[in-house]
Amino acid sequence: MGSVGDEFTPLSQLEYGMDKCKVRVRISRLWESFNPKDDTLFGLDCLLIDDQEKTMQARVDPGDIEQFEDLLVEGKIYALSDFNVDEQRDYYMSCSNELTMYFGRQTVVTEIEGDIDSIPLHSFEFVKFKDLRYRCDDNSLLTDVLGHVVHVGDLREVSKKSRVIEICNARIRDLRGRALSVTLFGDIASGFAEDMLEKGQDASVVVVFAGMSVTSSSSVCSTTSSKYYLDLEITEVQEFRANLLIQQANPVPEKTSAQKLAESWRTIEQLKSLDREEYDENTMFLCRVSLIDIDCTSGWCYLGCDTCQKSMYKAPRKYKCARCGPMMPVQWYKLKAKVQDATGTMNLMIFCEVAEELVGVSAEELVDKIKDDDEWYTLPDEIDDLLGSTHTFQVFDKYVVGSFAVRSIMDDASAPAPAATTSQFKEKADPEGSAAMARVKSTRVQKPNKRMRGDDWIN
Ligand SMILES: [Zn+2]
Repeated sequence: MGSVGDEFTPLSQLEYGMDKCKVRVRISRLWESFNPKDDTLFGLDCLLIDDQEKTMQARVDPGDIEQFEDLLVEGKIYALSDFNVDEQRDYYMSCSNELTMYFGRQTVVTEIEGDIDSIPLHSFEFVKFKDLRYRCDDNSLLTDVLGHVVHVGDLREVSKKSRVIEICNARIRDLRGRALSVTLFGDIASGFAEDMLEKGQDASVVVVFAGMSVTSSSSVCSTTSSKYYLDLEITEVQEFRANLLIQQANPVPEKTSAQKLAESWRTIEQLKSLDREEYDENTMFLCRVSLIDIDCTSGWCYLGCDTCQKSMYKAPRKYKCARCGPMMPVQWYKLKAKVQDATGTMNLMIFCEVAEELVGVSAEELVDKIKDDDEWYTLPDEIDDLLGSTHTFQVFDKYVVGSFAVRSIMDDASAPAPAATTSQFKEKADPEGSAAMARVKSTRVQKPNKRMRGDDWIN
């Protein structure tokens, strides 16, 4: 054995299969993992941190818990040896280390007295609210979030089968004002509700929720690994609080929906150079564009659910929508359009009812007219006639990948003038940009003539 300095192996140097190493770590979090549905115990788990701030999850199997439960205390520092290093499990890991540690009967746990400042108390892998959608229903890695508490619901008791479980709903916000719903179950619910009550209604609390499960792009719930920390003394929380204080000292007046709409004008050039950190899947932009091409090499319609429009292409004969159940599929439009304005061109998807409004007849009607298989891949006249027409579209980017689709068509009367405050717009868009065009251009293509053609055909 060498000097004290090289006696301990850093967590970063542990490898799969090792069982003779010695590490010096702090137990940052300690919890019992169990299945809340039937109380099946999986083990006593902990999150370890070393003085390089590297983390690793460790587990004591249920049969060995008795040996370790009094030895291990959250926050304390230990020398550990004779443990096993294995691959991480597929579910409910609380850090992204690809390895995990298992304690066994042979494992030696020695508490190191006195605190060692070089080992932090906490380590989190924070996920931005806007990125939570990538973690929906994926519980391989649990999620840490940080936010300002804006609402704490009453603690409720809910009967589940033979037992009663406590639930607390809360809402937190990030610095962009994005809200996240948080549902807490069991001890963490009652603990959080009590602590927040003690802080008082007017307190401005920054909370860390660690080890959460992401249930939707804007909601998380607790697991048996979850912990919460109020106003923690860590850099991330301190920075958050400092920025929050600046925001609270300089409140921005809430914008009306008309203002927001007027500020949402973008040229194609602007849409193509948007910063993806600055918007999300719900953000709408207005643009005034001309349809110059519709690519139908992969068709112009698809078979989808009558209710939710989800594609039923893969199981057309089963007549079952994966979301809505048994369902006669219908033909929906799927127009892969190329559009243009004074600043450039871009692709724009136009689906379903929006396309129907544009074309003037339903995709079903056009499909009924198909006689030759080639017609699935050539534009029907009704769609072809749209080329060259100019429209004001409200567009959005569902996956925030720079790929836009039309949410709605605005008629020129209801399209707002651009807001004077949209500096980005003023710089780049006027006078040939969208707004000027919206007001000047006549409405060349609108529904009536299309409808008539449809009626002619019916007659
Ligand atoms: Zn459906």
